[in-house]
Parts: sequence; C-alpha cells; structure tokens
Amino acid sequence: MISEEIRKKYFPTIGLEIHFEPKTKYKMFCNCLNDPDEIKPNVNICPICLAHPGVLPTINLEAVELIIKLGLALNCEISKISRFDRKNYFYPDLPKSYQITQAFYPFCLNGKLTPFLEEDISEVLIKEIHLEEDTGRLSHVNGKTLIDYNRASRPLIELVTEACIHDGRTARVFAESLQVILRDLNISDADMEKGQMRVEVNVSVSTDDSLGTKTEVKNINSFRSAEKAIDYEIERQIELLEKGEKVVQATRGWDDVKNITVSQRIKEGADDYRYFPDPDLPELIVHGENGLFDLTKIQNSLGELSYDKKARLIKEYDLSWDKAVFLVVNKSICKFFENTVNEIRNTVDEKLFLKATKLIYNYLVTDVIGMLISKNIKFDDLKMSVNNFSKLIGLIINDKVSSRAAKIILEKIIIDDSDPEIVMKDNGLEQVSNDEEIRKFVLDVLGENPKSVDEYKSGKIAVLQFLIGKTMGKAKGAGNPGKIKEILEMELNKQ
Ligand SMILES: [Zn+2]
Repeated sequence: MISEEIRKKYFPTIGLEIHFEPKTKYKMFCNCLNDPDEIKPNVNICPICLAHPGVLPTINLEAVELIIKLGLALNCEISKISRFDRKNYFYPDLPKSYQITQAFYPFCLNGKLTPFLEEDISEVLIKEIHLEEDTGRLSHVNGKTLIDYNRASRPLIELVTEACIHDGRTARVFAESLQVILRDLNISDADMEKGQMRVEVNVSVSTDDSLGTKTEVKNINSFRSAEKAIDYEIERQIELLEKGEKVVQATRGWDDVKNITVSQRIKEGADDYRYFPDPDLPELIVHGENGLFDLTKIQNSLGELSYDKKARLIKEYDLSWDKAVFLVVNKSICKFFENTVNEIRNTVDEKLFLKATKLIYNYLVTDVIGMLISKNIKFDDLKMSVNNFSKLIGLIINDKVSSRAAKIILEKIIIDDSDPEIVMKDNGLEQVSNDEEIRKFVLDVLGENPKSVDEYKSGKIAVLQFLIGKTMGKAKGAGNPGKIKEILEMELNKQ
C-alpha cells in the first residue's frame, strides 16, 4: 500500500472504451438474423458474413438510426457524412481477415454525460461513438478449436471517452449510467454478464499534466471490477515509478479472483491495422440536405431519459437522491409508483399529496418488494393493480386502517388483487377513529386501572403508554393510536 502523501504526487488519467450490442433485427451488413440467444452454432450465416469471394455487403440502417439516437441522448455532434473503413488483421474468428469499423468518420463526436447514479461526479467527455461488426466466437475443446460464426458481423457500437477520468468510481458510475440510457432507448440490454456490454480501461499516471505510459485492461466482467481494476492499476503504476522502474505499455487482464491485473501482451509501438475506406460500402449522407435521417424527428422520439427523469422525481415528489435513483434504475417499479401517485393526486390536497407519495414509495419499495421476494415472485408478475394499491394508500392516509392492518391487507391483495376495502371489512381491520367509540374504551380502561390513574396524576407520565396499550387491546388493535392518546390525556386531566 502506498501512502496518501505519495499518492498525491501522482495524477492518474483514465479513458474508457465501451462496446455494446445493439438490438437490431438483422446483422450489420447482411440479412442474417442478429440473434444473441441462438445456441446452435453457424445457423445465422450467409456468404456475405462468411466473406465468400465476390459478395457485397449492404449497410443496416436500423443500426445507424440506433447510434444516432444514442449520440443525441449523449449530446454528441452527429456527423453529416460518415463512412466505414477496413481494419486489417488476421485471426480465425474474423472471416474477412479485416473488420469493418469506423476509423476516421464515426457517426457521433464530442458528446458528454454526467454520471447521474451517484452524487458529486463530474461530467465525462465522449470522444466518439462508432459502429462496427463483431467477430465470430472460438471455443477450444479437447485440443481442438471450434468456430461459430453466428456472432460474426453482428453490429457492435463502440463508445470512446476522452482521457478525462481520474478515479475508478467515476468510471464505474459512468458505465452504469450509460447502461441505463441504453435501456431507456431500448438500444441494448447491455448486460455485462451476458457479454452484451464490455468495458476496457486505459490507465496511466504521471507527476505532471503530461500523460504517462498507459496500460489497457481487458476481461472486465462487471462495473465493480472496472472500478477495482482501475484503482489497482493506479496503485501498481505508482509503486513501480516510486521504485524508479518503468511502466511497460501492455494489455493486461483483470483477475476477478485475485483482484489483480496480469500482463497479457506487451505492446511495442502501435499496431498497424492499415486502415482504409471500405470500397464496397458507400459514404453516407447522414442528415441535412439529401440526408438519410431527420435529426429533429429522432430527437423528439427519445422520450424522457433517466437523467431528466431523476431530476423530475426529486423535484415533483420531494424524493431523496437515492430513492429517485432506485426508481430510474427499476423502470417497472417506477411506472407503478407514478401511476399510483397519479391516481392519488386528485383525491387529496397538496400537503397530504407529498405525504401520500412518501407512503406510496415506502409501501412499494419496502413492503411490496419485500413480500414479493419472500414469495419468490418477480415484480413484473405482480398481480396487484395500481387501482387497488391506490385504494389501500387512501385507507392509510385517511386513518381508516393502522399500518399493522395495512400490511395484513397488502399481503392479501398482492396475491389476488382483491379490493382492500372488502379485505378490511371482512377481517375486521377497520381502525376506530370515531371519538365516541374510543372514549368508551378509554373510560372502561380508566375505570379498571385506578392505580395507574393515581400514578399519572402524581406526575408519572410514563404510565400513559401502559394505558394506551390497554385501550388498544380493548379496541382489538383497530384503534387509531393518535386518537387514543389524545382522548386518554383529555379524560385523565378531567379526573
Ligand atoms: Zn450473413
């Protein structure tokens, strides 16, 4: 471990390269299905994605539209003219011996995103977002190598940030926030475990504002691992430099078990991919005169994005940061929450409304989800309707049921969506708030406990709690505790 004092001498710089698979119907340059769930190897293949001689690729404009959507959501400039290039290298998972990518004219440039899932994180600048094709998949079995080309030439989007990040946490929250935006736009499920999103990090440290020798870390399979890999690399590089050694430019892999990075490939100079424009694919006029896409139309189709939604939830419902973040990340819970709030909105005044929204959040996130988890039911399979949940919230805010009774009702209605009012009546859960009825219980209790009354009058106020408990018992738990306390005090002072 290096000391804080030594650490302060160094300035870490981090850049991210994030790949993700857009959900298009077809592959990037042919009409084979883009089906990530296909298990049978070499089913979704054709002469084009297998690179037979003489075939011609065509550009999948659905993928282009998705990348433009993302670019607009991330405040990018959308290039007027864009084109594809060949990146030449030989590897068995690449049937063409080159990959079609965008080396010079990517679709999206100069964007930005403030990671919005945690507080106090600075904006991350996005250098570019481009489209390319994926490679096939190799598997090594019993000394033999098998090739599956189902993935070959499926579309892949790569986002490259500027080297503007200085710690692991910012990188993690950026990648997490990006995942939420990808899901908002239905561009990709971006599930890291399924390989639908891959994060690579470039890390360097230096003692001034020049960039030090960087290492690239791959094989990162979760957002947490990205953060840990960055923090580990920063520490490792500082230790080397402190010992007077040099950082070797290399590709390193993240070992999730040992929590370290290990050298995979030493890089001597830049790789030479001999990029050149793909002569088989036309240059695209993306927008503007004779352009393929209407940017205003696409912009208007984006809907409310999670960074805006989070701000709105906080403002409109007075929710805390954490709660708003929980809702934007859990979209179906958020929808249920907002639908319930809208049902309640017209039935109460403004003061009660904010109280109701807090109740809705707490009952939904703590009780409903807790009950569903204990019953092994997914939220999306919830039987309870917004209408009946709103009715229950109405019973609670109007003091018709105690919180204990509300939970008993909830247990029932989340299973069969029954009417909470009927459940309340059938089970005698109605709270007694009627003054006269409560006064009757109170007077009975006071009559039965003269000793406690004397104690109270001699100043032992604590005895009040005992009397409240006794009265609750008489009301069989259905008495409103606030009302009971109020009437008890009133009657005790009369005695
Ligand atoms: Zn194909």
